[in-house]
Amino acid sequence: MRIDRIDVIHTCIPLNQTFRTSFGAINEQHSIVVKVYGEGLTAFGEACPFYAPVYSYECIETIKAVTRDFIAPAVLGKDLDGIEDYHRAVDFIKGNNHAKAAVETAIWDLVSKMKGVPLWKLVGGTDPAVEVGVSIGIQPSIEVLLNKIEAYLSEGYRRIKIKIEPGRDIDTVSQVRKVFPEISLMVDANSSYRIGDFEMLAKLDKYHLLMMEQPLAEDDIIDHGKLQSSIATPICLDESIHTSDDARKAIELGSCKIINIKYGRVGGLLNSVRIHDICAANGIGNWAGGMIETGIGQRFKIAISTLPNFKYAADIETSDRFLVEDLVTPDIAHIKGMLDANTDYKVDEVKLNKYTEDITICRA
Ligand SMILES: [Mg+2]
Repeated sequence: MRIDRIDVIHTCIPLNQTFRTSFGAINEQHSIVVKVYGEGLTAFGEACPFYAPVYSYECIETIKAVTRDFIAPAVLGKDLDGIEDYHRAVDFIKGNNHAKAAVETAIWDLVSKMKGVPLWKLVGGTDPAVEVGVSIGIQPSIEVLLNKIEAYLSEGYRRIKIKIEPGRDIDTVSQVRKVFPEISLMVDANSSYRIGDFEMLAKLDKYHLLMMEQPLAEDDIIDHGKLQSSIATPICLDESIHTSDDARKAIELGSCKIINIKYGRVGGLLNSVRIHDICAANGIGNWAGGMIETGIGQRFKIAISTLPNFKYAADIETSDRFLVEDLVTPDIAHIKGMLDANTDYKVDEVKLNKYTEDITICRA
């Protein structure tokens, strides 16, 4: 397979609501869509690390620079013998996983088109029926949060995830549990707690949460191990896991019982599969997390969610959830919390152009 051209397309789509996490509030979604040209076809990938380096050190501008100066020259015009060869070609670049994933996912899409095999089968998926959960940002009041949960449950979402942070935790969870004693409920702390908070976090055990996501520092697996041995709630690691080796170490240290796989954070779908395989062999469950990608990127989250060890509902955003318009046709929409991985979401290039901020064109 030969890639002749890579377009790095910076898109900006207004959100239909403010999205608030412990990182701050955003009103528009910036993303990098990659269009590759090769073998007489075109295909699309995406990475969405947020505009600013607040989730990881990567941001929109670093992806453009790393792709233009290092990934594209390593890949363009070369005879690539599949996805593993792509990884070998860019392996000299330290980190920058979102940038690597943006091009990698486009190559998966290209291979899918060349072979006429849907993405979910190509990654080794076994069940095209994908369960969808919903992640609710920090809300202005408990009443607003309870109303949102009610609304999402009536739409059929299979799992509710709420964000917690110091000062908005036990009380929030206890009030949610009072109203919804039986729902599948989890919390995401986005690294907002520290080692002195163990006693407080242990108090969450009595609310039988499905999991507690990334309570401690974004680069930690040691303290998470200590915390996991002192609480019953399963810890799910997110920000701390970038490679399959990170996953192996976290498992050996007992740092978690679940790993959230975001394909951008781990450098693409091949590494997602590798982390999945290590987790499956060690009784650690997986699910697909998200970064508010456009529908282009949601396709890859749907694909990996069909792998057998993806045991928990995925954070797959429907097209109308945050974006005023999505970039795929048909829209991504769940039915009673389920998606069918066989749906063929096509990129709408008219809308892609409409929301394009700038394009960096790289040629062989
Ligand atoms: Mg998270």
